[in-house]
Amino acid sequence: MSTDQSPFERENMTNAALFERAQRVIPGGVNSPVRAFRAVGGTPRFIARAQGAYMWDAEGRRYIDYIGSWGPMILGHGHPVVLDAVQRAAADGLSFGAPTEREIELAEAILAQVPSMEQLRLVSSGTEAGMSALRLARGATGRAKIIKFEGCYHGHADALLVKAGSGLATFGHPTSAGVPPEVVQHTIVLPYNDVAALEAAFDAHGRELACVMIEPIAGNMNFVRASLPFMARLRELCTLHGALLVFDEVMTGFRVALGGAQALYAKALPGFKPDMSVFGKVIGGGMPLAAFGGTRAVMGQLAPLGPVYQAGTLSGNPVATACGLATLREITKPGFFEALSQRTRALVDGLVREAHAAGVPLVGDSEGGMFGFFFADRLPRDYGVVMATDKERFNRFFHAMLERGVYFAPALYEAGFVSAAHTAADVDATLSAAREVFAALK
Ligand SMILES: *Cc1c(COP(=O)(O)O)cnc(C)c1O
Repeated sequence: MSTDQSPFERENMTNAALFERAQRVIPGGVNSPVRAFRAVGGTPRFIARAQGAYMWDAEGRRYIDYIGSWGPMILGHGHPVVLDAVQRAAADGLSFGAPTEREIELAEAILAQVPSMEQLRLVSSGTEAGMSALRLARGATGRAKIIKFEGCYHGHADALLVKAGSGLATFGHPTSAGVPPEVVQHTIVLPYNDVAALEAAFDAHGRELACVMIEPIAGNMNFVRASLPFMARLRELCTLHGALLVFDEVMTGFRVALGGAQALYAKALPGFKPDMSVFGKVIGGGMPLAAFGGTRAVMGQLAPLGPVYQAGTLSGNPVATACGLATLREITKPGFFEALSQRTRALVDGLVREAHAAGVPLVGDSEGGMFGFFFADRLPRDYGVVMATDKERFNRFFHAMLERGVYFAPALYEAGFVSAAHTAADVDATLSAAREVFAALK
C-alpha cells in the first residue's frame, strides 16, 4: 500500500500549493480559463466553502464575494430554502432520463416572467443553450448567416467564437485555435451599438440572415448597455428582413430584473420583444441548468416535433430544476429586485465617490444585481473602448482589494454581481477598503 497521505490530510493547503498541484493534472490548473487569474496575474484563491455574501479560501481567509459564481448566486451562498430543496430532490433520485413534473413547474415559472416566450427547452449550460438556439434559428428560417457583436460572449460553440476585424461587416476569423475558418464563414461580427454598421450588414446580407444574437446588456465586456436607438433599429431590421432576434440573457436573465433585460427594453420601447431568448446562470441557482425558448411556431421545429435535433442526458435534471425553482420562488417575492437594485447602486455610487475623492477617474453603472466599473472618464459603449480603459490601474485595484478581503472579478472585462445576502455593512466595508486602495492608486 502507498504510504502517501490522503489529499484530505495534507497540511500544506496554501493557495499556491494547490495551484501547483492543480496545474499537474488540469490544464492551467483550472476548469474555466478566467479562474486562473491570467488577466491580473498572481495566484488564484482555492475556495473551500461559502456562506451568504462570503467565501473562504483554502487558507481560511474570508472574502466578500462580488462574483457569485459569475452570476448564479443571486440569493447568496447556502440559502436555507434552496439547500433544503436540493437535498430533498437528491434524496428522491439524481437523474432519471425521463420527464418529471418539476421540469413543467420550472418552465411555467420562467415563462410566467418572460412574455416573449411561449415555450422553452431546458439544457445544462449557457453554451449548450446558445448553440441550440443558433441551430434552431437556422433550422426555422432555412438560412445560414448570423450576426453577433464584438465583445459579446455566447458560450464557446464554434460558430460563436469569433472576434471582429475592424470596419464594417467583417466576416469573422475564429478567436480560438481548433475552429476551422469554414465553420465561422457565416458569422458576421459587428461593433456593439453601431447603427450604421448594422444597417450596412443588413443591406448586404439581410435575406441570408437566420438571426442576430446579442447580449442586451453586455456583461462579458464588463457592463455595456445596448442603447435604445440601437436596439429599436435592430428590432426593425430583423422584422423587415425576416431574421430572428435572439436575446442572450444567460447573464442578465432574472439578474437585472425579473424577466431579464427584455423587460427593461419593453418598458422603454412599447411592444418590444425578441423572437428567441437564452437563459442560464440565475435560473439554475448554482446548479448546471440553462434554457432557450421562443414562440410556439419556432420551438415546434425542435425534435421530436420538427426537424431540428437537440437532446441531453442530463437536461432538466431533477436536482438542478429543484435548485432553480427554489431560487425563482425567492426572487419573485415582492420587493426583492428593488432591494437588490438599491444595494448594488449603493456599491457602485460609493466606489465612484471614493475614487473621485482620491482623484482617480472611475465610472460605474448597474442594473438590478449586476454592475460594472471602469477606470475611465466616460462609460464605454463598445468593446474597443472597454479594452482601452486603464488595465494597469484595474489590476492594482483588484489585487489590493483582494488583499483586504474583497473579491471582485479578476479581469476588467467582467461584470460584477451583488446578492440578496450582501448587507449595507458589507458594502460599507467594501467602500472603506476601496478608500485606502484608491488613495494608493493616484
Ligand atoms: C456565461 C454566459 C454564457 C455561457 O454560459 P455557460 O453556462 O458558462 O456555458 C453564454 N452567454 C452569456 C451572456 C454568458 O454570460
